[in-house]
Amino acid sequence: MKSFSYERVATAAEAASALGRTKGAKIIAGGTNLLDLMKLGIEAPDHLVDVNGLGLDKIEETAEGGLRIGTLVRNTDMAADARIRADYPLLTRAVLAGASGQLRNKATTGGNLLQRTRCPYFYDTAMPCNKRKPGSGCAALSGASRQLAVIGGSEACIATYPGDMAVAMRALDAAVETVRADGTTRSIPLDQFYHLPGTSPDVENDLAADELITHVTLPAPVGGEQTYTKIRDRASYAFALVSVAVIRHSDGSGRVAFGGMAPKPWRAEEADAAMAKGAEAVTEIAFAGANPTEDNAFKLPLAQRALAKILHGKGE
Ligand SMILES: Cc1cc2nc3c(=O)[nH]c(=O)nc-3n(C[C@H](O)[C@H](O)[C@H](O)COP(=O)(O)OP(=O)(O)OC[C@H]3O[C@@H](n4cnc5c(N)ncnc54)[C@H](O)[C@@H]3O)c2cc1C
Ligand code: SF4
Repeated sequence: MKSFSYERVATAAEAASALGRTKGAKIIAGGTNLLDLMKLGIEAPDHLVDVNGLGLDKIEETAEGGLRIGTLVRNTDMAADARIRADYPLLTRAVLAGASGQLRNKATTGGNLLQRTRCPYFYDTAMPCNKRKPGSGCAALSGASRQLAVIGGSEACIATYPGDMAVAMRALDAAVETVRADGTTRSIPLDQFYHLPGTSPDVENDLAADELITHVTLPAPVGGEQTYTKIRDRASYAFALVSVAVIRHSDGSGRVAFGGMAPKPWRAEEADAAMAKGAEAVTEIAFAGANPTEDNAFKLPLAQRALAKILHGKGE
C-alpha cells in the first residue's frame, strides 16, 4: 500500500480547505469502502482528511417541512430515525436492504452516496478498466457483464452504481448540499449529482476536487405507499441485481426509481406518469434506449416483473 498523510479536521471549511490545499487528498468518513479500495491498490490518495469530528451527525427539520440529514449520520441511525420511518419509509427500507448491521453502524450518509462500483474488473488490477485507469480500456465489454448496466453506459464503461440508499433518495427527490474551499455552498439535485460515464467513467459525480458533502435534504413528505424491493443472488449481504423503489398513491399515480440497472439511480419522470397503466408501460418508457449485453438482458424483464409484483400489492 502506498504511504499517505492523515489529518483530522473540526469544521467543514477546514475539510474543504484541506482538499483544496493537497493534491490527491480524499475525505475519509466510515472508511468501509475507501479503506478496502486502498488495501487493494485501487485508490491511492496522498492525503486523508478525516471528517468524523465535524459534528454533522444530526437530522434536522427544514422550514419547508422536509429533513436535512448531516453527512455523518450513520446508516443505522438514519434508518431508525422516527421521522424517517414515519414519513420516508422508502428510505428506511432501502438502507436496511444494504450491507450488514455492522457496516451500517459505521457507514455514513455521504460515504454511502459516494461508494464506488462493484464491477469485478474495477477490483481486478490485472485487467483494463477505464474507471480505475483512464484510457486503459474496459474488460467488461468483452467479458462477464451479468451484474452491469443495461442503460446509461457507454463504450468506455458499463458499470452500475451499486448502492441502495441513493435509489430511494432519487425517488424522494433528495438534494446534496456541499461546500468548497472558497466557502461557496450549493445544493445539487440527486439526478444531477451523478454523471453518466460517457468518455470519462472516472468522473462519477459533480463534486469538484475541493468540495465535500455536508448534508442531504429531503423535501416535505409526499405520502403514499412506499416500497423498496431488492433482487440479489443471496438473501443478504449482496448488492442488487435489480432494485425498485416505488411511491404509490391511492389514485394510481406515483414515482419509481431503479437500482442495479445503470451507472446511477435510474428514474425517468415520464415513466412515473405511466404508473397507473402498469409495470409494462412504466418499464417501456424508463428503459427506452436500453442496450443490454447477452449476459445482462435478463435484468429488463426482471425489473418489469419486480415492479408488477409491487403494483399488484405483493411487494417486498
Ligand atoms: C461487504 C460489503 C457489502 C456491502 N453491501 C452493500 C449493499 O448491499 N448496499 C449498499 O448500498 N451498500 C453496500 N455496501 C457499501 C456500503 O454501504 C459503503 O461502503 C458505505 O456506505 C460507505 O460509507 P462510508 O462512510 O464508510 O464511506 P467511506 O469509505 O469513508 O468513503 C466512501 C467515499 O466517499 C467519500 N466521502 C465520504 N464522505 C464524504 C463527504 N462528506 N464529502 C465528500 N466525499 C466523501 C470518500 O472520499 C470515499 O471516496 C457494502 C459494503 C461492504 C464492505
Ligand atoms: S465497466 Fe467500467 S468499471 Fe467495469 S471494467 Fe469497464 S470501465 Fe472498468
